[in-house]
Parts: sequence; structure tokens; C-alpha cells
Amino acid sequence: MVVALDITFLGTGSAQPSATRNHQAIALRTDGEIWLFDCGEATQHQFQKSKLKMGKITRIFITHMHGDHCFGLAPLLCSMTDNLNPANQNNSQDEQRIPIDIYGPSPLRSWLRTTLTSTYSNLGRPYRVHELLFKDDPVDQNLSLHNNELPGENIHLNSDHVFALPLFHSALEKGYRVQAAPILHSISSLGYVITEPDSPGKLNALIPIIKKHAAALKEQHHLSNPMTLLGDLQRTNQPYTLPDGTQLLPPPRRPGRQIVILGDTYDPSAVAKIVTSENPAVLVHEATNALTKLDFMIEKQNKRTPYSPPTFEDVEKRAKEHGHSTPQMAAAFAKRINCQKLILTHFSARYRGDDSPEAKEVMEEIRNLAVAAFDNRDQDVFCARDLWTFDVKMTS
Ligand SMILES: [Zn+2]
Ligand SMILES: [Zn+2]
Repeated sequence: MVVALDITFLGTGSAQPSATRNHQAIALRTDGEIWLFDCGEATQHQFQKSKLKMGKITRIFITHMHGDHCFGLAPLLCSMTDNLNPANQNNSQDEQRIPIDIYGPSPLRSWLRTTLTSTYSNLGRPYRVHELLFKDDPVDQNLSLHNNELPGENIHLNSDHVFALPLFHSALEKGYRVQAAPILHSISSLGYVITEPDSPGKLNALIPIIKKHAAALKEQHHLSNPMTLLGDLQRTNQPYTLPDGTQLLPPPRRPGRQIVILGDTYDPSAVAKIVTSENPAVLVHEATNALTKLDFMIEKQNKRTPYSPPTFEDVEKRAKEHGHSTPQMAAAFAKRINCQKLILTHFSARYRGDDSPEAKEVMEEIRNLAVAAFDNRDQDVFCARDLWTFDVKMTS
């Protein structure tokens, strides 16, 4: 069975939050669980404004240690593990015992430990931090753990220069895979690639064949309901020989969707090699800076003399100097990995995320900049806004 998979953008702003954009946090909902990517300040408030239940978070992935991506982590952990919190009361006692796995770069583990310890915070569930270590990062030895902390793994880049993340509990049992690669930003930053397990193939084409042989199957193979063969083929994935000797082949399994979520970056090239799908379902890419009518206006107001209008090259240069991307840069990477959908996020505070005509016009300009650089694929490019949910469709 294909599971529902969607992505809710809890925060879509960069650097400074605004009245219309919170700091970055992205909730991937799959198979009844929430996997959270980044946890900017006040992410728990965003959960309260959304339909998502923070008690359903099982895993948290931090892309990098800039505060706009992790300042909300300690308070969120306190609230989401508070078993008296009505939002968490649907969780079973077993769920309340399973540790929350948190992944991210150094010094996430010691920072979180210090924050929780020095604020006398106790959690209702255990947690552990698995650190993805870049070259020359200090290795935390899991000493002096917080009361609710379990030792986490220290994950080094493998020989392919990739982090293969150990998954636990349901994600391991169901066959999910998560890999990460270092991407270029002003500090160590990560791009994550999440791969769903394959799902059983479509059975529709087999129904008329079984119907055609139904009488013979009943008589010669003593199958009172020949349609049960459909379930057997899915379960065993083995061919079945029909009474006339022809082989009924199980339908090819459907590859799981692949989702790419990047931290802040001006060059995510290293992620391209861990994208194994020929057609990943979604790429979430930052587009902090752009050149729109609004930017021309702001530049003019701040004019230096002599004033010359900014160009795309100027904006790209400036974005790169700060470790960020433009919509065109995001589209270029989307093209490179041949993704089905591109979602832009992490916008500068000047780009408001509300419903006013002015804000919508600016966001449409930003989207169009990416569309033009993505082979004019107008249907495939989106600008995220706070609390917007994107359904990830299964296309094959
Ligand atoms: Zn940021
Ligand atoms: Zn950053």
C-alpha cells in the first residue's frame, strides 16, 4: 500500500523572523509519523497553529547550527514529550518510551545537553543525538549525559564522502533510508535525502488474467477464490504457474519516493551523488535572495551615489558571499538532479508571506525567476509559506 506523504512548512523565513514568516522548520509526515527538518525558534507555536501533533514527531534532523534552524529545539522537546500535554495523549505507553532520534552536525549534542541541563529541563521521553561529523570536528564521547539522554552515534563521512544515517525502530523496520552530504554554506551545512521503501506493484493488469483462468484454478488448483492469488503475489513476490503452464508474474515493485531537503547553501553539489532516483519527487531548496521590483525599490531608497540598478549577477554574488542562493541557483540544481517538483523556502525577511496583493506579487516574481531557469516548468515550482502543506504524489 502506498502511504500518504506530505510536507508542511512550519517556518519559511531566514535570519530574522517576521510577522508572516517564522524561522525554518519542515515537517515531513509519513505513515503516521512526523520527521522534523530543522527547528527554528517558536516551532512549537507553529505546531499549535497547524493540524500536526507535535507528539507524533519521532525523528528530528538539523541541517546546520545557525540559530534560525535550531533555536526552537529544546522548548519543542520539552512540550512534545510532556505526556500531560493533550497534544500527546494519543501516544501509547510504548511510543512514550521510544527515544527521539536527533541528527545534526557538531556541536548539536553538547549544545542541547547544556541547554536542557542548565534550564533544569526534564523530558517525558528519552532522546539521543547522533552527530554527523565533518573533518576536524571534535568527537563527543557521550560523557555526563543529561537525565533523559541516551548515548548517540558518531557518524563519519564514508569513503564516498557521504553520511549514511543509522535509523532505528519503525524507520528501520519499514526500510526507509536517509543519507546526508556536506553542502557549502558559511558554516558546516547538510543536505538530506530521504528514500521511502519500495511499495508493491499495481495489480490491476493481473485481474483479467486470473478471471480468465478462474474456472481452471478452482478445479485444478482447488482455489475457492482465485483472486486471493493477487495478495499472494504481492506478499511472496514470486511467479505463479497457472493451470495451462503460463507464468503469472508479480507486478514490478514501485520505487519509493525520494525527498531532498537542503540546509542553507550556495552550492549543494555533493548532494547530487546521493540522489539515486532518476526523478526525485521533491527538492526543497533555499532561495534567500532575489531580484524583484521590491528589491529595485529598496536598493533605490538605500541608494549610494552614483546609483546603478542592481543586476542578477550582483544579487547572486551577494547571496553567495553570505552562503545563500537565488531562485535561479535553486532551479539550476533542480534541473541537475531532475526533480519533479521544486519548493523554494528560507526567504529574506523583506519577502512577506501573507495574502496581501503586494506580497503575493513579489512571491510570484520570485517563483517565475525559478520557473524560467527550470525549463519554464510553471506547474512544478512553488514558493513555500508558513503552514502550507504540499502533498507528495506517487507518480509511477
Ligand atoms: Zn538560515
Ligand atoms: Zn545558515
